Amino acid sequence: MQSARSEALFERAKKSIPGGVNSPVRAFRAVGGVPRFIRRGEGARLIDEDGNSYIDYVGSWGPLLLGHRHPDVVAALREVLEFGTSFGAPTEREIELAELLREAVPSMEMVRLVNSGTEATMSAIRVARGFTGRDLTVKFDGCYHGHVDSLLVKAGSGMATLAISDTVGVPQAIAATTVVLPFNSVEAVEKAFAERGHEIASVIIEPVVGNMGCVPPEPGYLEALRAITERHGALLIFDEVMTGFRVAHGGAQQLYGIKPDLSTFGKVIGGGLPIAAYGGRADVMLKVAPAGPVYQAGTLSGNPLAVSAGLAMLRYLKAHPEVYTYIEKLGAMLTARPPAGVTVNRVGSMFTFFFTPEKVTSWDTAKLADTARYGRYFHWMLERGVYLAPSQFEAGFISAAHTEADIQATVEAANAFFAQ
Ligand SMILES: *Cc1c(COP(=O)(O)O)cnc(C)c1O
Repeated sequence: MQSARSEALFERAKKSIPGGVNSPVRAFRAVGGVPRFIRRGEGARLIDEDGNSYIDYVGSWGPLLLGHRHPDVVAALREVLEFGTSFGAPTEREIELAELLREAVPSMEMVRLVNSGTEATMSAIRVARGFTGRDLTVKFDGCYHGHVDSLLVKAGSGMATLAISDTVGVPQAIAATTVVLPFNSVEAVEKAFAERGHEIASVIIEPVVGNMGCVPPEPGYLEALRAITERHGALLIFDEVMTGFRVAHGGAQQLYGIKPDLSTFGKVIGGGLPIAAYGGRADVMLKVAPAGPVYQAGTLSGNPLAVSAGLAMLRYLKAHPEVYTYIEKLGAMLTARPPAGVTVNRVGSMFTFFFTPEKVTSWDTAKLADTARYGRYFHWMLERGVYLAPSQFEAGFISAAHTEADIQATVEAANAFFAQ
């Protein structure tokens, strides 16, 4: 497999872009080697600048539930270009996207569109503070909610991968507004609320974690969070930027039957364009400006291109519920026979092969994984045309564009690795 062009491009990129990439995990730091520069995506495949073709399990880190260049998304983008790319004024399309979100996710009584998952979580915790008049946010070790200052504490994959436990540049006073607790421990939440319940504005969680690798909630855990937050008058925020329209049409809240106060969405709802949303209880969302006193704005928020791609995506998913049975079937095929010494976690089309025999239920258990061995596995698979996340602590994604033959080929390549 050739990589001369990727190597040359990486050298060139490093001169103008910090680390040569516009988001850290793309740099392959955790696994070593040179990142592949991508020329094109088609269905479940990536084609790099050297002409190599890969079965893609990264899927742009979650958005591409229907694969690259889905015809409906491409057509919607072509069509909207005839009208304009940004107006800074309201459009009818935005209403339809908000309505489709509300219909699929009933807890979303009102919705505000933003441009990235980071913006969505940042805004959601601000609204929660404005609504409750309290300052603290509870988050969980290993959960990532974007690069929001106060949420960039013990935030899973990106920072685990770079081996920095924390970032510089966040004032201590801001970090101190966050309480970090272990994922899947009800006792830790009970204790935190017993001590500081009257100061806690919200609890934000990835209901199925994707950002320390795929880690599902233990039975009863989300129910306990719902009960405890309700009892203490704090808001429960489901960060469904990754799980929304991914683990079920109505997200993790549909899958587990929990109604959060606020939710954040991103990734899938943009069909591969930059869009995200936060929303939830109408009495809370009516605090958002201009309806209420919590300020939040965006020049490109709800821009026609991203909204059109998102509409094409959500209309397609509404009309084709069989997508979820299909990707579930492929997920089951891919993870049916985990090799000895490897633990597989999977929820629908989100999966991680953890290189540890221990059950992985939290960051403390995830980090037992043998990352050096994962790195060797990653390169073995890459050389055989399978593009996995370049870090042990990321979820893999299956799309509706993958075929059974793709899964079969992937399983065979993996089996050969474990046999040698
Ligand atoms: C990706 C992600 C974010 C951040 O979204 P960006 O669009 O990258 O800012 C937030 N929360 C979760 C759960 C995510 O997976």
